[in-house]
Amino acid sequence: MILLETADAMRAWSRARRAEGHTIGFAPTMGALHEGHASLARAAVRECGVAVASIFVNPAQFAPNEDFDKYPRTFEADRAMLEGIGVHALYLPSARDMYPESYSTYVEVGGVSQGLCGGSRPHFFRGVATVVTKLFNAVEPDRAYFGQKDAQQCAVIRRMARDLDTGIEIVQMPIVREADGLAMSSRNRYLGPEERTRALCISRSLFEAGRRMGGGLKDAAAVAAGVREGMAETRIDYVELVDAETMRPVAAVDRPVLLAAAAWVGDTRLIDNILFTPEAPKEDASCC
Ligand code: AMP
Repeated sequence: MILLETADAMRAWSRARRAEGHTIGFAPTMGALHEGHASLARAAVRECGVAVASIFVNPAQFAPNEDFDKYPRTFEADRAMLEGIGVHALYLPSARDMYPESYSTYVEVGGVSQGLCGGSRPHFFRGVATVVTKLFNAVEPDRAYFGQKDAQQCAVIRRMARDLDTGIEIVQMPIVREADGLAMSSRNRYLGPEERTRALCISRSLFEAGRRMGGGLKDAAAVAAGVREGMAETRIDYVELVDAETMRPVAAVDRPVLLAAAAWVGDTRLIDNILFTPEAPKEDASCC
């Protein structure tokens, strides 16, 4: 696995692989890798001739009061994991190269970036869309892999990739969970044992809501209320049922929906979600 530290070096390497006839798969990360990240890297290796991963803890997506400084950095373990998976190149830009002193260009994605995490972290998606645009410009991938764990982020990137004519296919991979249901996250490392147990109420409440929707519950407010009740041991940021594509709130479970939750467990903010698609109504044989 080759390590590349500048956009120019990354792009030159990528272009050489493309000239050899390879397609390029890309899995961007902020490091502190776990099996969720590994699933993206494995998909890139499996589905593309050449797989690139990146590690960059992006200052532009953290507000001053957030955890940029304490965000876990585990480079040697990350490198070993990616190498073991068979990733061909690891892009490691520096913050100074990404955002030099006179840096002044940002990417704002309308619509899908509003609400949910965009509501509680107003700086966040501008930072994400900007850094992913820059990573895309360095890697020039054919396909890029993102996790459903950050479903709104995936919707924002998909919209950005389409609106800016990148030609890059955005692939959303399912959430990888611990055996007890907790969605894997680099931030789970912050949780003490008692908090780790308490955090389980998030996935448990979402799964229970999934069962209720499967049983025919249609009312979005009732679905969300059940989840809130189940998450009483946390400090809830939001629980919302939204259209899975537009991220706009829905009143009823009458299309593919995303049930998304964010909550604080101690000092740690966690997010999780489930996707749910109601069964199409049965054809009425008596009609027509
Ligand atoms: P991060 O390093 O947190 O910025 O995440 C990098 C990528 O990994 C994003 O596309 C995330 O959605 C994805 N990811 C993080 N956690 C998981 C998970 N538990 N399952 C699947 N993908 C994940």
